[in-house]
Amino acid sequence: MNLQAPLEPVLVDPLPRRGTVAVDVGGVLVGGAAPVVVQSMTNTDTADVDGTVRQVADLARAGSEIVRITVDRDEAAAAVPRIRERLDRLGVTVPLVGDFHYIGHKLLADHPACAAALAKYRINPGNVGFKDKKDRQFVEIVEMAIRHDKPVRIGVNWGSLDQELLTRLMDANSALASPLPARDVMREAIVQSALHSAALAEETGLARERIILSAKVSNVQDLIAVYRDLSRRTDHCIHLGLTEAGMGSKGIVASAAAMGILLQEGIGDTIRVSLTPEPGGDRTREVQVAQEILQTMGFRQFIPIVAACPGCGRTTSTLFQQLAETIQTDIRTNMPLWRERYPGVEAMTVAVMGCIVNGPGESKHADIGISLPGTAEVPSAPVYMDGVKVATLRGARIAEDFHEMVRQYIDRRFGRPAALAGTAAAE
Ligand code: SF4
Repeated sequence: MNLQAPLEPVLVDPLPRRGTVAVDVGGVLVGGAAPVVVQSMTNTDTADVDGTVRQVADLARAGSEIVRITVDRDEAAAAVPRIRERLDRLGVTVPLVGDFHYIGHKLLADHPACAAALAKYRINPGNVGFKDKKDRQFVEIVEMAIRHDKPVRIGVNWGSLDQELLTRLMDANSALASPLPARDVMREAIVQSALHSAALAEETGLARERIILSAKVSNVQDLIAVYRDLSRRTDHCIHLGLTEAGMGSKGIVASAAAMGILLQEGIGDTIRVSLTPEPGGDRTREVQVAQEILQTMGFRQFIPIVAACPGCGRTTSTLFQQLAETIQTDIRTNMPLWRERYPGVEAMTVAVMGCIVNGPGESKHADIGISLPGTAEVPSAPVYMDGVKVATLRGARIAEDFHEMVRQYIDRRFGRPAALAGTAAAE
């Protein structure tokens, strides 16, 4: 083995996906050979049209490809068509999914404009009704989906798991000579609830390519076990998500750990990261995290990645942290415009490194990178583009100069020729 040979970059295979039946959600294809779709959910009162339009638009601009809204009462259902119209007028075409619990069958029947405006209905089989009403009301929602030609997501959640099913399985388990642990029975009940409901929807007449399944729990190991089992037992399209993931780093780490393992196994056609926002926090954070999970694993590209070293005792100034943050913020702010103007820019990598130890090497691997001077190093910063050293920055304006070089690099490499840009603008 030649240890001197340069390392080839590690390329992740384009996701060895489990074969699932593709579902069209308002023009967005989920499952089959489609890329894993990022979705999110609002936390506004849907009856508040202004607030909901604003948040849906923010989520869509952040990159959410499907947005779910709560439809919990008449006022919310009545607001849905107005929300759809307002979004269309703003040019925000993101499909809206209605989240129904308990009275979904009634709301959809009483508000046909709502049923028509939504691109998908989410049904929780544990929350559609009790005893003989349960299947009847579930079927009523499915019939509504058939009438309006909409897909449904059958979204099982362990916090509202069908208690009759769970009790039946627990009773059967305790009658066994060697009963399984209660946790295993709970996992089985979640999977059975999803599969039974999907079978009932198909018996009612809903096509298989109109059904998405999810089976959310809040524990990482349970989630992995449940989704592995679900995906082994059906080829239905799969919505992946850890429910009640939590706040801040806890929610991000738990979601990334659980979904990362499943996505790597090819399980999951669409993901939602259920973060609890800080009070007054930005709801679009969940979209950003979902994108970062997919991009860091090499499955999709949404935004240029800024690679920055963590810093250590070799760098005592905060220059490289500030520069990395400025570049990251600049990219995120400009991305909606750059997506149009610079096709392919989302695959770019920028390195901002703190000293000479790893700085030049990491910078060479990035499309554009800078190695800032560490403590006691000569106050100069070599800049690399496409693996080649192109400049050495010095003086008090290193950060500003590098920032400008990044912008020029993007324009030169990803900008369309003026004639082409002019044609597009005139179209
Ligand atoms: S590149 Fe330099 S400053 Fe950054 S972590 Fe490595 S040794 Fe420390």
